Amino acid sequence: MKIAVIGTGYVGLVSGTCFAETGITVTCVDIDKSKIDRLNNGEIPIYEPGLERLVNKNIETGRLLFSTSLEESITDCEAIFIAVGTPPDEDGSADLKYVLSVAAEIGQYMKDYLVVITKSTVPINTAERVRVAVQAELTKRGSDLEFDVASNPEFLKEGAAINDFLKPDRIIVGTDSERAIKMIQRLYKPFLLNNHPLIFMDIRSAEMTKYAANAMLATKISFMNEIANLCEIVGADVNMVRQGIGSDSRIGNKFIYAGAGYGGSCFPKDVKALVKTGLEYHSPLRILQSVEEANEHQKSVIALKLMAHFDGDMKGKKVAIWGLSFKPETDDMREAPSLVIIDNLLKAGAIIKAFDPVAMKEAERMLNSSVEFCANKYDALVDADALVVITEWSEFRILNYPQMKELMKETVIFDGRNIYEPTEMQENGFSYYSIGRKPVIPNS
Ligand code: NAD
Repeated sequence: MKIAVIGTGYVGLVSGTCFAETGITVTCVDIDKSKIDRLNNGEIPIYEPGLERLVNKNIETGRLLFSTSLEESITDCEAIFIAVGTPPDEDGSADLKYVLSVAAEIGQYMKDYLVVITKSTVPINTAERVRVAVQAELTKRGSDLEFDVASNPEFLKEGAAINDFLKPDRIIVGTDSERAIKMIQRLYKPFLLNNHPLIFMDIRSAEMTKYAANAMLATKISFMNEIANLCEIVGADVNMVRQGIGSDSRIGNKFIYAGAGYGGSCFPKDVKALVKTGLEYHSPLRILQSVEEANEHQKSVIALKLMAHFDGDMKGKKVAIWGLSFKPETDDMREAPSLVIIDNLLKAGAIIKAFDPVAMKEAERMLNSSVEFCANKYDALVDADALVVITEWSEFRILNYPQMKELMKETVIFDGRNIYEPTEMQENGFSYYSIGRKPVIPNS
């Protein structure tokens, strides 16, 4: 069996590699020539645990190929996955220009029946628009080739993408074609050996499922952040509240951690796009509008705490930042809360020294010379007036208090992910601010 995956980003590269792992021959296509050149040299353009080993293993078997040419890659393919980006348009809706241009190319170059599967996160009715775009090109060619469309949204999490793809909680497929169902069943069979469900539905429901899932997760986070902010004011502890409500099986204990706001390439843009869809169809999603608003506010909470601690005077204050990526185990900086926090602190006159285990190259591209990047977490602490922890990388969890005290000018920590215990901080001589818990000052 042979397939092609168009778009070799976080989703396309992981999906293509995992399909190759099952014995299928996969060509990953991208218009970014430098990306394809790097991949052909065994170099992985993104940080994703376990990916490099799997890519190189499948390149060696000859089952995983990389190309800039959709035309050359489409020959003998039974299915084409579209996994290109769908960034927000100016008005917040998903920009479909990349998806539709790939659909047109497929129509120009396909030579036999195939199933065109949209894996990118796309608004309702996109698979229909893909169908129209492919058909328009076939008509131009005077061709009567047949094809089907399907929507197969992706649920992998960056940082755990390989495991999520190989052992999915569920696979969602929307299609109206029996022939496509049979082909997709064959394609996904190796991933279903542990009884993970492959759920077939109509195309619109599949498209909606992806947005509803991300919107629900973003809602849980924003809800908990607002509860956390109130906890602080009324003297409650959000960690206790989280444990209290998380043990209710109707609520569950996942995605209810308070923090410095959600980011990444999916939640912010998908919430925006769904809000836009609601408005378009005159069915406003009022909850989601508030989720977005709450998240924007949450990203400023840490900087506000610093301002309050330093009586509004951040000028010349040296702030160490630990963690830049939007979450641990990825180098993805898209919409990372760190960008907003750093911007707020710089505007207030602070000097920033930052460390992240893998995202500094990406961060450098976005923040350029405004931030000093450090070789390790302790270098960032030299003469620091404060430490801000933004991303909960494992290596930040255990602290060397004596070393930190020696390096820092003032022993104060702002924890945007609630990874430390206030009493431990207090006992070790640190002032400590977190999210939704009482701040502490050192025991005298
Ligand atoms: P990405 O930006 O990392 O990668 C997209 C790739 O598509 C880029 O390499 C780009 O060069 C390529 N591309 C654009 N136009 C092309 C064309 N005409 N032909 C060939 N390649 C082209 O994006 P991503 O993070 O992998 O996301 C892709 C889609 O999957 C988005 O819709 C996203 O919302 C969705 N998604 C992402 C995640 C995630 O965790 N990143 C998870 C689930 C779903």
